[in-house]
Amino acid sequence: MKAALFREHGGAEKILYEDYRDPAIGPSEALVRVKACALNQVDMLLLDGRFPPPEGLPHINGCEVTGTIEATGVAGLRPGQRVIVFPGFSCGACEYCVRGERTVCVRYGYLGAHKDGGYAELVKVPAANVLPLPDAISFESGAAVPLAMLTSWHALVAQAEVRPGQTVLVQAAGSGVGSAAIQIARLCGARVITTVGSDDKIEFARSLGAEQVVNYRTQDFVEETRKWTGKRGVDVVVEHIGGETFERSVYALTRLGKLVTIGSHDTHWGRLDLRHVYSKNLRVLGTNLGSIVELGTVLDHVVQGRLRPVVDRAFPLKDARAAVQHVLDRKNKGKVLLVS
Ligand SMILES: [Zn+2]
Repeated sequence: MKAALFREHGGAEKILYEDYRDPAIGPSEALVRVKACALNQVDMLLLDGRFPPPEGLPHINGCEVTGTIEATGVAGLRPGQRVIVFPGFSCGACEYCVRGERTVCVRYGYLGAHKDGGYAELVKVPAANVLPLPDAISFESGAAVPLAMLTSWHALVAQAEVRPGQTVLVQAAGSGVGSAAIQIARLCGARVITTVGSDDKIEFARSLGAEQVVNYRTQDFVEETRKWTGKRGVDVVVEHIGGETFERSVYALTRLGKLVTIGSHDTHWGRLDLRHVYSKNLRVLGTNLGSIVELGTVLDHVVQGRLRPVVDRAFPLKDARAAVQHVLDRKNKGKVLLVS
């Protein structure tokens, strides 16, 4: 098969489009012919070595995959069937899996991180991770769902338990997680303020349902949030940047507010002003991905038109290097895809 892999850590220039061994599937696995694969910030951490691939190099990135079944010995799946892949792997046997909390499995892994992913013509996955892709959802739209949209869903619905009438600050509207979180918060009946890094993303953020948009390069998001809420602060912040953005997000929260952290795309570190955490009874909630059941729920909302996967641009697989550079340059509004 052809694949866009990397043999050394670095920037987009390390992505090589070349021939690679076809994945060999075991009895409980399925081979998927990739039609679309979305890029994610975690891909960039894997590429530059901040999150080195556990199985070493060479490595193929790509957590979000839609495609067709190429081969499998598992009953219930047939060759040619349109599918979407749930990207989380769990053992099913550890204390946390048994408790139904598979995303904190002690042997947890992601497609495209712990195993080779979808920047390729073929990818192998556990058959249990495969869901039918509804006909109403294109391969391209579907590829924007399983990581970004599911993670935001779990963060807002299961973890933050957002309720009608609440206010939510979503960091980085232009990102996959941000563009999904705005829509999901709105679907929950909340009002949304969001941040963007350039004025040309303001209209985009509004079109997703954000009521107030802050350019974080020219405005102070804490001050703007306080203004927007009449000095009260928001009930929930969705944070996935880290560093100063994480640190200052605490100041945008009202009492009993929740800071949901779902990524560290700039840095893994962030300080916390503890005075605010204890005196305002704040909660800091970590979350990652969601369940395959929640993925089904999100797909239903997409089919019904209540949630819209946002695709910025699709590149052919052979142009994976340009696609990666496009994400690194933060030019995207929504998801960037590789298609074949
Ligand atoms: Zn487990």
